[in-house]
Amino acid sequence: MNILSMQENNYLTELLRDRKLKVTSKRLEVLGVIKEHSSAISYSALQTSLHDFDRVTLYRTIHSLIENGIIHKALTEENETFYALCSTTCTSASHIHKHIHFKCVECNGVTCVESVHPIQLSIVGYSIENVEIEARGRCAACKN
Ligand SMILES: [Zn+2]
Ligand SMILES: [Zn+2]
Ligand SMILES: [Zn+2]
Repeated sequence: MNILSMQENNYLTELLRDRKLKVTSKRLEVLGVIKEHSSAISYSALQTSLHDFDRVTLYRTIHSLIENGIIHKALTEENETFYALCSTTCTSASHIHKHIHFKCVECNGVTCVESVHPIQLSIVGYSIENVEIEARGRCAACKN
């Protein structure tokens, strides 16, 4: 189990309070593992890090963090889902993302990346709040 530093703990506690979620040790633990990861983290990696969680607890904890705009599903594959922390644009009311999810075919890492050109989509008569784009290729580390 990971012991969170005091500073880290305070930051995550604030994050939960800010999104009106009750601060529980389970939520702090899950968030701690996700935050420690610089890219998106897979469900199986979460399970491995949090082996003292039973399936239902882990599922519910992840669900509540998604519902309240703290984390999001970065990518969903047949047998795996990747999760990443949200930025401050997400609130307990809605998720607002305009970034791309990149999957590296070499190292299988999933990252949230901003596009060099901002994504501007429009559909006549519709209001777009969320754009989900999945890109695949080789990350900077695997490119060479
Ligand atoms: Zn979000
Ligand atoms: Zn890679
Ligand atoms: Zn993302």
